[in-house]
Amino acid sequence: MNLAIAHALAAFWRTKRLARRLRTRGDVDLWRAARLRHFLRKVITRTPFYAGMSGARLDDLPIMDKQTLLANFDKLNVKGVPYAAVRAALDRGEERVGKLFIGQSTGTSGNRGVYVISEAERFTWLGVMLAKTLPDFPLARHRVALALPGYSRLYASAAETGRLAVRFFDLSLGVDAWRHELRAFAPDTIVAPPKVLRALAEMPGFRPANVFSGAEVLDPLDRAMVEDRLGVRVREIYMATEGLLGVGCAHGVLHLAEDAVVFEFEPVGENLVSPLLTDFTRSTQIMARYRMNDLLRLSDAPCACGSPLQRVDAVEGRQDDVFQLVGHEGKSVMVTPDVVRNAVVDADRRIQDFRIVQTGPDCVVLSLAQDLAPDVPAKAAAALRAALEKIGAPGVAIEFKSGLETPFDRKLRRVRREWWSPR
Ligand SMILES: [Zn+2]
Repeated sequence: MNLAIAHALAAFWRTKRLARRLRTRGDVDLWRAARLRHFLRKVITRTPFYAGMSGARLDDLPIMDKQTLLANFDKLNVKGVPYAAVRAALDRGEERVGKLFIGQSTGTSGNRGVYVISEAERFTWLGVMLAKTLPDFPLARHRVALALPGYSRLYASAAETGRLAVRFFDLSLGVDAWRHELRAFAPDTIVAPPKVLRALAEMPGFRPANVFSGAEVLDPLDRAMVEDRLGVRVREIYMATEGLLGVGCAHGVLHLAEDAVVFEFEPVGENLVSPLLTDFTRSTQIMARYRMNDLLRLSDAPCACGSPLQRVDAVEGRQDDVFQLVGHEGKSVMVTPDVVRNAVVDADRRIQDFRIVQTGPDCVVLSLAQDLAPDVPAKAAAALRAALEKIGAPGVAIEFKSGLETPFDRKLRRVRREWWSPR
């Protein structure tokens, strides 16, 4: 067994033991506080950015956004790797700088986050994910199909454990390029973006027992469609460049990975928050109070699975995609993605997919599938108009487009803002 696999197995057992130990909210808080103390005293201070901040409290650290992170990249990782070196290596198609693995987020071009991570950390990530997704591994054998951006090599090595067969399927080629290969592989577990799960669910003979959705927002429409076809519950894996942030439990409820990450929450609009995260398991590149772009709807209701980890009712999209529309007397009105999404989807049961894009200060483009009955688009547009009026943006023009495209080489964002107010 090589060292990398040893890291994965150690993380796997640690995560399982921890899950047994952290029974109550109090257990989680205590354990996290201890890990955080160590992280703030001993780990962050190894980087120039936080040198001299030993013993600081979490609130003493500055909030880190993507721009600050990229501008101070070399001071935020222990090896002093500069951003330009990572960027250049990525552009050459390489996946390492020296011994460190590198990667980038799938954000819009020009604004993509990059990261460095040690091999040990990558395999720790794998071990944690397996512990949270395959509770009976390594007792039971598993055949895992992964169609996720950026994880090919990692999982190719993981296949060496013997009790675990893992195959990577290249998202950028589209589902049709490997549909048959996937069926021949006959996975019992699949992790893929919801659009891929949707496409695969139609395939005869494809019946995995464990279905995980990752890398993109899981819309309730996707969930219903995939669960209906495959007859199993879809569990969400909430992940980002920034790490493994949450995993859905057997009851289909997403729980944040508070056993590895401290989440702070900033309110955004009604009932939604955006997380700041501090990952106390990573030490190559420090991720402290990092501001995520995501919009979460939290819930304090207990989960039937008994987990004390924070429950998330929905990941509603990204802060970048919050509409900024012109309202009464030229005031700017913010509309979160869930509001426009619900208006359109609830307008008619026949709507199974949609795109809603803000293209100007007072212009929104609504797209629906081509094969819908002719009365559906009008109903959807009327419902969208009513929702925008209610929220204080009555003068918005809604343009309708027939036909939907699903990109496989990048993230699908059904609600998107493609217009930015001039500054
Ligand atoms: Zn649960």
